[in-house]
Amino acid sequence: MFDKVVIANRGEIALRILRACKELGIKTVAVHSESDRDLMHVRLADESVCIGPAKATDSYLNIPAIISACEITDALAIHPGYGFLAENDDFAEHVEQSGFTFIGPTAETIRLMGNKISAIETMKKAGVPCVPGSDGSLGDDAEKNKVIARDIGYPVLIKAAGGGGGRGMRVVHSEAALLNAISLTRSEAAAAFNNDTLYMEKFLQNPRHIEIQVLGDGQGNAIHLGERDCSLQRRHQKVIEEATAPGITPDQRETIGRCCVEACCRMQFRGAGTFEFLYEDGEFYFIEMNTRVQVEHPVTEMVTGVDIVKEQIRIAAGEPLSYKQSDIHIKGHAIECRINAEDPNTFTPSPGKINLYHPPGGLGVRIDSHIYTGYVVPPHYDSLIGKLITYADDRQSAIIRMRNALDEFIIDGIKTNIPLHQKMMRDANFIAGGVNIHYLEKKLEL
Ligand code: ADP
Repeated sequence: MFDKVVIANRGEIALRILRACKELGIKTVAVHSESDRDLMHVRLADESVCIGPAKATDSYLNIPAIISACEITDALAIHPGYGFLAENDDFAEHVEQSGFTFIGPTAETIRLMGNKISAIETMKKAGVPCVPGSDGSLGDDAEKNKVIARDIGYPVLIKAAGGGGGRGMRVVHSEAALLNAISLTRSEAAAAFNNDTLYMEKFLQNPRHIEIQVLGDGQGNAIHLGERDCSLQRRHQKVIEEATAPGITPDQRETIGRCCVEACCRMQFRGAGTFEFLYEDGEFYFIEMNTRVQVEHPVTEMVTGVDIVKEQIRIAAGEPLSYKQSDIHIKGHAIECRINAEDPNTFTPSPGKINLYHPPGGLGVRIDSHIYTGYVVPPHYDSLIGKLITYADDRQSAIIRMRNALDEFIIDGIKTNIPLHQKMMRDANFIAGGVNIHYLEKKLEL
């Protein structure tokens, strides 16, 4: 096992990684920006190194500074968390070339999955169901592109191969709008992702977002930890997630889970990953694979009892998977509410000082958060300040537990989206289960 690990992230996930390291007996190094000296994990880490100014490009995205921190502290490995450099293949490569271990997949895997066209090709070969689409990139031949769209059937979606964060895609409803949409998306993709490669797929009108958590050892062994439903989204950002997904049968879980495991084995996937699917009319359609720990990983931990972050670290240290597929038993139901420092109505960020912090507690209540009374939420980063997770024997009980936990939660001094979560936990359609990816936005328009 590693003696010392650098945590190349901030906020709640940095604290989550620190806790996993401590349980494994690993010393920790917190690297932080100038505005993040008071982060909880910086206080708790064995060592800390300031790696630059508040701006993320000068600190959390500053590859040489992070590698230097590794060198000067004699750390052996780097955990990238999510966001920032977690899916940056150049970073993974630099880390390994400098003689350290990247706690995650190989740079090659990150690159393969980072390009959506090569990801889809890989999945198709492994037998993972994908959205009907253009089988590779779109060329400049207008007639050919019209034929591709006609074959897929309108509405279609033009997507950038290098896209991310819900950007770089455009829905087209008819042939009249097709060519213009392709050229617009192409120039946007070139500017935003430095890659103007596009592809086309069927636009699914009312899907749910369901994803499968996997773990692979990099030597051809892999398991899945079941699914999560992350359909409650605003602007493609997940707001509430749960495991299991309402209405998904054990047979469906087994079938789609096995497909993902097969794909992992074929690409010798190493680390924790997520296969994201759209789910409509009983069918799964692969859209992308994330090659890192997800914000919503706790709901899977609650229903499986597997510590995903500890597994990531063990795998990176070269240990075999701690579990076989037959060891994984899904039990109960977990829900996660993302707590953001933002206005619950306008969604404008609300940084500032937390005058009073009083978290809820009790059986089946988990909080992953770095905030505390007196902490100042800086304006430089995303607005996630914590995650409230409840676990119970069944979904209805988990919802009731979440309602009570939200009602107990006090975060004074800044605005948060707790009132939105309180409303959702009393929403009849959410309570019934299985709403689609448009549900939250439609409800917010009312
Ligand atoms: P990103 O990497 O930008 O997150 P994704 O491919 O994961 O891009 O897609 C983001 C979101 O866009 C999905 O969660 C879904 O809401 C929507 N989306 C993507 N592909 C389709 C599709 N074929 N049909 C309908 N919606 C889609």
